[in-house]
Amino acid sequence: MPDEGKKKVVSCWSKMTEDKIQEAYSFNAGYLDFLTSAKTEREAADKISQLALAAGFKTLEKIDVPKAGDKLMITSKGKVVALVVIGTQPMEEGFNIVVSHIDSPRLDLKARPIYEADGMALLKTHYYGGIKKYQWPAMPLALHGVVVKKDGTVKNITIGEKAEDPVFTIADLLPHLAKDQMEKKMSEAINAESLNALVGSRPLLQREDDPIKAFVLNILQDRFNIVEEDLTSAELQLVPAFPAREVGLDRSMIGAYGQDDRVSAYTSLRAALEVEQPSRTALCLFVDKEEIGSSGNTGLQSLLIENIVAEIMHKAGINDYFSLRQALAASHALSADVNAAIDPNYPEVFEKMNNSFMSQGVVITKYTGSRGKSGSNDANPEYIARIRNLFDEAGVIWQIGELGKVDIGGGGTVAQYIAHYGMEVVDCGVALLGMHSPFEVSSKVDVYMAYQAYKVFMEKFSSKVGHQAQVMEKRGDTPWQKTTSDLRKWSERLAEQQR
Ligand code: MN
Ligand code: MN
Repeated sequence: MPDEGKKKVVSCWSKMTEDKIQEAYSFNAGYLDFLTSAKTEREAADKISQLALAAGFKTLEKIDVPKAGDKLMITSKGKVVALVVIGTQPMEEGFNIVVSHIDSPRLDLKARPIYEADGMALLKTHYYGGIKKYQWPAMPLALHGVVVKKDGTVKNITIGEKAEDPVFTIADLLPHLAKDQMEKKMSEAINAESLNALVGSRPLLQREDDPIKAFVLNILQDRFNIVEEDLTSAELQLVPAFPAREVGLDRSMIGAYGQDDRVSAYTSLRAALEVEQPSRTALCLFVDKEEIGSSGNTGLQSLLIENIVAEIMHKAGINDYFSLRQALAASHALSADVNAAIDPNYPEVFEKMNNSFMSQGVVITKYTGSRGKSGSNDANPEYIARIRNLFDEAGVIWQIGELGKVDIGGGGTVAQYIAHYGMEVVDCGVALLGMHSPFEVSSKVDVYMAYQAYKVFMEKFSSKVGHQAQVMEKRGDTPWQKTTSDLRKWSERLAEQQR
């Protein structure tokens, strides 16, 4: 049975030295902090900007004409960050681009969220991204986001992260009364309109109408100076209220909300902070809205990449449209996003020859998509060959991956939107267990390898080396033998390989 075939048996753990493994553990300590402190795209963008500024990146207005080695930062709408390290080569020869997304599946509050029923006040939600609805009740939730008042004042709200904070929760149905629910399909057992979170139960005694809701609104007014109508211009998200944790007796794994795709964001950030004097200009980009199809003006279906590259080139004095098109088309990108790790609890959905495993290195994913690769970028093999070569030479441990069995489902990434410009792009990231769940799991060595991969790519990928891979062999140069008797003996070939 092909499914029983084993393609990969040696993990990073046995390929890495003890020193490297210790380095991976300390790298992951920073990753844990990042995950706990950045649970929304705005918080991630803030954190990334702070770390970049501290590491010497400068906003555009602080730089006159960028020169090789300069480190620039561009932000947009508080949800997108671009870190740029100017290279020595002309920009028209292309950039080395790593793109990750900093939005994650969650429960957004509706524009009119608060209502009262049966002695309680609740918050109506609208889920964002591909969630399994049954995973969200019966756990503590924290509220994160912004409320923008009519005068433009932005109120930042985070409730439920500190130990002394109150949390929110969606109560689940007791099993005693769940006979009908338990017989439903899992996708229908929890209705989206019943994902309402508890926000209060104490009445404002002077009030007759909705006194419990009034009590909650009173608190909001006291604490944040916001009224109910202000919630119509808000982005408030309910996310799991617990911190990122180490998983396993050996502390070899990370368990946390939002690793898709903040694992790529953190690892590429750390890489970008260390890029010095590259020959090609390095662009490390953190974007929003991937989980809902990269729509909107902070998602990659917009002209985001083009506008950022145009801004950098304009700053460098290159203003013509053709140069911009050249730079984009000559660029090379890694779409830094996660893949699914083979889960021994669900062997039936994986194909072991081609899916990715935990702890076997950063995953190169040639294509994503559904059914017949629909919605996939399907990276060019000429490009993948050069990435393989780059990673192997730098000692980056990698594996090839595909999402799952062909007929089972599928998914997509931003790769297809990056490819739009003509640049080469391939998906490259960490394999996760429980992707899109409130507690996703990664392996520390894979996280470390992703960081190494993004770093060597931004620093060293060159459009000028690896051309051997692009030399086309002439067809028919080596005619097929009529019989197999002319083939060299296996033992001879083996001896040759061992030399
Ligand atoms: Mn993702
Ligand atoms: Mn995702």
